[in-house]
Amino acid sequence: MRSLIASQPYIAERMKDAELVFEPRVLQSWSSTTDKFYGDGFVLTGNVTEFLDPVFSSGVTLATVSSQMAGKLVVKKLKGEAVDWNKEYMDIMMQGVNTFRSYVMAWYEGTLDTIFFADDQDPEIKRKICSVLAGYVWDLENDYVKNHDTALKKLAKTIHLRDSITYINNGFKDPA
Ligand SMILES: Cc1cc2nc3c(=O)[nH]c(=O)nc-3n(C[C@H](O)[C@H](O)[C@H](O)COP(=O)(O)OP(=O)(O)OC[C@H]3O[C@@H](n4cnc5c(N)ncnc54)[C@H](O)[C@@H]3O)c2cc1C
Repeated sequence: MRSLIASQPYIAERMKDAELVFEPRVLQSWSSTTDKFYGDGFVLTGNVTEFLDPVFSSGVTLATVSSQMAGKLVVKKLKGEAVDWNKEYMDIMMQGVNTFRSYVMAWYEGTLDTIFFADDQDPEIKRKICSVLAGYVWDLENDYVKNHDTALKKLAKTIHLRDSITYINNGFKDPA
């Protein structure tokens, strides 16, 4: 922790008089899931189905969307209509959860960092990624939703490649 703080001049300056009140601790494995979101007489919604990450702001979207969807299906069931809970609820929720998961992972791996701080960003790609981050994780017309598990990695690789070519073309110097 100390060497991490020291490595960033701005943070080092802000923290120069700070004292550690306890040794840094590691918090890990906070994601949790459950195998089945429904059963005889119950349906699970929100955090209790899937908790991804405390900082990525996916929780309220997943909680409200799952509650709304489950509520509508319960009404359908109470009216005596058939409900395919796997297809009409679990698969749809998991598609949203898995899209968010790809972005959470990409953040921790540094892939999103590469994309967020890239030079000369494509406004259309930016719009699509912002849309996902705003919670539109069920919009399959957005290729950054549809191909969530590959699109970010491909984009980051393209940015690295482009930057490497620029670096070479610039005589192995960073552009001014
Ligand atoms: C510090 C922190 C910051 C967060 N920031 C964000 C954010 O910026 N954006 C975002 O989208 N998400 C954020 N989240 C996640 C978000 O708060 C949750 O994903 C969301 O509240 C889940 O809603 P929920 O209804 O599933 O569960 P909860 O909001 O946890 O609701 C469950 C309720 O059930 C009650 N309960 C539990 N057991 C029983 C029982 N036996 N009987 C009766 N009642 C019971 C609990 O008291 C609670 O009120 C954050 C979470 C934390 C902890």
